[in-house]
Amino acid sequence: MTHIFILSCSSVQLRLERFPKHKDGDRFRSFNSKLYHFKWLEYSVSQDSVYCFYCRHFSENSSISDYKCDIFIVAGYRQWKKCYGKSEKEKHLLSFSHCKAVANYEAYNSTLEKGSVISQIRKEHAILIKENRHYLVTLCEILLTITQQKIGVRESVSLFRASAIDIESESIDYGPHSGNFLSLLSLVGNHDEVIARRIKHGPRNAKCTHHSVQNALLDIMAGEVKNKIFEEMQTES
Ligand SMILES: [Zn+2]
Repeated sequence: MTHIFILSCSSVQLRLERFPKHKDGDRFRSFNSKLYHFKWLEYSVSQDSVYCFYCRHFSENSSISDYKCDIFIVAGYRQWKKCYGKSEKEKHLLSFSHCKAVANYEAYNSTLEKGSVISQIRKEHAILIKENRHYLVTLCEILLTITQQKIGVRESVSLFRASAIDIESESIDYGPHSGNFLSLLSLVGNHDEVIARRIKHGPRNAKCTHHSVQNALLDIMAGEVKNKIFEEMQTES
């Protein structure tokens, strides 16, 4: 006797050369593997009955009382004459509990592919923190470059006029009199997706381009330099 297992949609569909026959009405009838075109259908050799893969593994206890779904979960279905007719399969396929089980199965698969909702939130949170750090480090590096080159952060007040960013435009441009800081930021943003996304779509209060934030970042960096010098002096002494 040859057994061939076909894994389809995670259901196990066993194929035999000959399926056992049972008296069904006035004739002996057996299961026919043609019924396997229903992906939900599984056949049990020991019970000589069919079950619904979705309902067996993904139904909810409260919905088992629905039309004959308990037969496809617990007892198994073996009335082959009726099974080959349209009514039984259609009734099962249209039953609320079967549809709910299919939805549960799809949600389970989606969770396997993407991870649980909590782990998805954790991943997104970790990405957000990483991008925030990347953005702030970039701002600090621009400010450091400006201070090392001893050039102004922006042009004189009379000339300074940063244009609003056009979020539809492919390139980032703060305008001709935006000053060194915003010009360098737009230059980096035109080559860095994270920076570009923050400038174009980030909340206004999280862009950190206001001069008060620039001063705060310069103060923090100056404090770090002082601490480093102090540590080195303590080590040497
Ligand atoms: Zn079902």
